[in-house]
Amino acid sequence: MTTEFRSEAEVLAPQLVSWRRDLHQHPELAFRETRTADLVARSLSRLDIEVRTHVGRTGVVGLLRGGRPGPTVMLRADMDGLPIQENSDAPYASQVPGVMHACGHDGHVAMLLGAATLLSEHAADLPGDVLFVFQPAEEGLGGASAMLADGLLTDPMPAAAFGLHLWNTMPMGRVCAQAGPMMAAADVIQVVVRGRGGHGALPHEAVDAIAVTGQILSALQTIVSRNVDPQEMAVLTIGTVHGGTAFNIIAETVALEGTIRTFSPAVRETVLTRLKVLLDGIAAGMGARYDLKVQDVAPAVVNDPGITEIARAAAVQVVGATSVAWHAPLMVSEDFSEYQRLVPSCYMLLGSGNPALGLDAPHHNPRFDFDETVLPVGAALLAMSAERFLIEGFARPGA
Ligand SMILES: [Zn+2]
Ligand SMILES: [Zn+2]
Repeated sequence: MTTEFRSEAEVLAPQLVSWRRDLHQHPELAFRETRTADLVARSLSRLDIEVRTHVGRTGVVGLLRGGRPGPTVMLRADMDGLPIQENSDAPYASQVPGVMHACGHDGHVAMLLGAATLLSEHAADLPGDVLFVFQPAEEGLGGASAMLADGLLTDPMPAAAFGLHLWNTMPMGRVCAQAGPMMAAADVIQVVVRGRGGHGALPHEAVDAIAVTGQILSALQTIVSRNVDPQEMAVLTIGTVHGGTAFNIIAETVALEGTIRTFSPAVRETVLTRLKVLLDGIAAGMGARYDLKVQDVAPAVVNDPGITEIARAAAVQVVGATSVAWHAPLMVSEDFSEYQRLVPSCYMLLGSGNPALGLDAPHHNPRFDFDETVLPVGAALLAMSAERFLIEGFARPGA
């Protein structure tokens, strides 16, 4: 028998909203989540959960011991805010200039604290332990890797992991839990084009890094459109271009930054190879040189079929079968994939948008906000996934 977590979570709703609003007013950037970590550690301690702090610098880990022997299941939330100035009239708007919870990680922390509360109330009946992971620095800065490097998954080693992201373009309460690819692998690319500076009126004595960059920018657009199989998914975006100092000076260098998003390692290899070939050819042809740095930010999120079945069953129980829906894989990335390399797991999307209330701005937007009635739904979904895994995960035939 599984627990009726949804109704228990609704009772917790005021506490969940209060945690979320407290965090929303005090957002902290990657690896600086000290106030957040403190709130998490204090809240877990009150539930008689064993707490470890400073795991991966500002990360917090809680371990709830079940009353009966069994495996360990991991639940994870991320804690970092973003360098965005919030544009909101809400009474709980960010009080920190230039920093904002614009991705919903404040909600993730509140929901995981809610799941910890729900599960701790049933600890005596749990056939196994629950590891609560509050991760810093999810936004491209390597928080998952930092926690792993600090021995997060050495003792205990969980047998399964679940996580979820609030998703504002999905209606409140809809859940996506599907096997296979869910979020893309991300690489950051940095290119410095090196020409030879000179007088703006004497181009024949210089190598114009801006003219070389112009050729590079248009050539790079052919990689996805002309080299990647149209049935595959890939993105190559150049997000910044910086070069030049004055109208009459030929720029010696131009710096570019961008990102590559792919699902298949073969497609990623194709994109990176073509990138180098084009940079080589254009630089050589125009008498310039270049430096290229590629940083592998996160592998793709690919959900384990068996664990996803458990997550889906939990979702059906929490929101009903008609609210569990398929969603196209997303080109955004998530370093939950770092745990997936080691632990069979499922990363879900939980709809948090409510256009009727104006709560449907996209993630990373200065007006981002979500429907807080989703908080008990997410807390129940996480608790239910963990409980179902502990009860049923190893009872299935062949498992
Ligand atoms: Zn984000
Ligand atoms: Zn996020």
